[in-house]
Amino acid sequence: MHRCAPRTLLLDMDGVLYQGDRLLPGAAGFLAAIAHLSHLFVTNNPIRTPQEVADHIAQLGLPRPDPDRILTSAQATADWLARAKPGFRYFAVGAAGLHRELERVGTPDAQAADFVVVGEGPGLDYEQLTIGVNLILTHGARLVATNPDSTVDAVRDGQHLILPGGGALVAPFAVATGVTPTVIGKPEPLLYQMAMRRLACNAGECLMVGDRPDTDIAGAARLGMWTALVRSGRFAPGAPWPDALPRPDLDLDCLADLIAALRARWPGWL
Ligand SMILES: [Mg+2]
Repeated sequence: MHRCAPRTLLLDMDGVLYQGDRLLPGAAGFLAAIAHLSHLFVTNNPIRTPQEVADHIAQLGLPRPDPDRILTSAQATADWLARAKPGFRYFAVGAAGLHRELERVGTPDAQAADFVVVGEGPGLDYEQLTIGVNLILTHGARLVATNPDSTVDAVRDGQHLILPGGGALVAPFAVATGVTPTVIGKPEPLLYQMAMRRLACNAGECLMVGDRPDTDIAGAARLGMWTALVRSGRFAPGAPWPDALPRPDLDLDCLADLIAALRARWPGWL
């Protein structure tokens, strides 16, 4: 795909703007620098609603973004299901944020669901797994996951904690049924495609800023987006690039360095 200079920005948040409850260096300056540009915050995290994400950003001392500028994997999942089957029935396992998004466009139905939807957060137990497996194997329901992350970082009582991610939570359903789930979040294209629809742009006009080579960068590069890695989250400064993954167009330690790099590469844009 031909790439002109980028005109829109997609920004991951965890590991880019903040890490749990800690604001990352350069976040405030970066948001001020891009305020006048077309941009959207995109996250694989289906747990918080866009309003809750906006509140979290405000609590960290940043200007509260318009929730319409925030796209979560739970929203993208609900949107994809509504397009795949308008008026769909579903059985969902995951946090409240996922259930709220699905309720807007579908109907919960543990007896005759069209889709078994698995997201991050509490909710999975033996009974839920049993219901989901039977819906898939005996009623032909499709298995859908909000995001493929094996683990996600969290802070609990001030301590760093690793939580099972969407990929880990959908795995028992996949193993029990032998079915490969449809995955909505990064690095799969569906979340990115919804982001581009919202911004009315094509991939070659987008710059994706993220902290994870395997999801943020790999997924965006595959679609033909410009990519910028900030090594302020999962991937540390100096860590060797994984051979199997496409290299980002820009590779920097933090957002403060990214502003300078963008101004040098595309003068007049920021
Ligand atoms: Mg991240």
